[in-house]
Amino acid sequence: MDKIKVSVARCESYDKENVGPALGKCLGLLGNFKDIIKPDKKILIKPNLLSPNVPEKAITTHPLFVEEVIRKIVEITNQPENIILADSCVPILSYTESGLKKLYEATGMINLPERTGIILNYDNRHAKISVKDGIAVKQFDAILPAAQADIIINLPKFKTHNLTISTGAVKNMFGVIPGMSKPGFHALFFDISMFCNMLIDIVTAVKPQLTIMDGILGMEGEGPGNGGKPRKTNLILASTDCFALDNIASNIMGLSEEKNPILIEAMKRHIMGASINNIELIGGVLSDLRINDFILPSTRKEISKNFFAGFLMNIAKNNLNPYPKIDRKKCRGESCKTCKKVCPPLAISDDANDSNALIFDYKKCIRCFCCSEVCPEGAIDNKYTFLGNLIVNRYGLGGKNKESK
Ligand code: SF4
Ligand code: SF4
Repeated sequence: MDKIKVSVARCESYDKENVGPALGKCLGLLGNFKDIIKPDKKILIKPNLLSPNVPEKAITTHPLFVEEVIRKIVEITNQPENIILADSCVPILSYTESGLKKLYEATGMINLPERTGIILNYDNRHAKISVKDGIAVKQFDAILPAAQADIIINLPKFKTHNLTISTGAVKNMFGVIPGMSKPGFHALFFDISMFCNMLIDIVTAVKPQLTIMDGILGMEGEGPGNGGKPRKTNLILASTDCFALDNIASNIMGLSEEKNPILIEAMKRHIMGASINNIELIGGVLSDLRINDFILPSTRKEISKNFFAGFLMNIAKNNLNPYPKIDRKKCRGESCKTCKKVCPPLAISDDANDSNALIFDYKKCIRCFCCSEVCPEGAIDNKYTFLGNLIVNRYGLGGKNKESK
């Protein structure tokens, strides 16, 4: 059986002179761009617009990268009017015309119609998509452009993620879930394996035809929001297979598929791209591309299932695994409270003794890290209890993280 291709090209900066040729090289190596892009089809561009932040923070796909991808498509179709850009961000902005306008302004997408002739989505309607063979979901509501597109071009960012350790092609498709429905999914699928299966269900139903990852300025540390740190990674990756692309990106970060929660679940489902053995990397050698000092999120060190079994495991997860904690020096306090608004199980409440402070109910907390994802100040840290720190960090019983630094 043929291997799944993932192509890679180096790109040093967000200059038109660099990004255009590097994209051309990456897509040329992959080889089938012209077969995927067809005239007279509705094409959805789906960048990562997680939250309203400037491109320099590396939280969102860079607008120049998006623009150059659009130019490559229009070179083939000459129909920019058939291309729509859409995403639904974390619910700190409403999924409405005014919320989307703020999102496009902050992330630098707002001028794309003027510059390229494409359409930015302001329609907040949604439509049902069925999931054949879904494990976590059989049907879900998706933003209308995702449900209506003939071709989806997925443009994720090369980033870490507190919940899924790394985020890329598969996780980016969670953005088709509209606005306030996202916390509901977190609440429903609080178990990480079911959460990952939900992501897999969504990506296999939405089926992006091509993924091109913006890894020019990536993110390391406590991603995917303001808690993470931008890191120059100088890469563009492309594949028709989301799992294969994530596999390579994750390995470049130093996280093999056996340690990547999404790929672990995908391997159980016999999805080919989840295994490195089924992938052909073109344009580079994995050992050369690997970033040896890349910083993964502290949440990667979950208590190993080999160490505790059964119900003891659940007790361990709640008491020993990382939990969110506010750094009061960074927190905006009363003027913000965004974390409280997005917490799926309502585990964050006002402190009756201090209007500037918030309290976490750790019995309710499902460790989804939505709060740290949306915090505009990066004020929510991941902490371990004394025992958790001892077991995970001192005695290394948090699973084998030999790839991690
Ligand atoms: S922790 Fe972050 S999101 Fe929560 S109130 Fe403080 S600044 Fe806002
Ligand atoms: S407190 Fe934070 S990590 Fe816990 S459930 Fe709420 S949003 Fe998720």
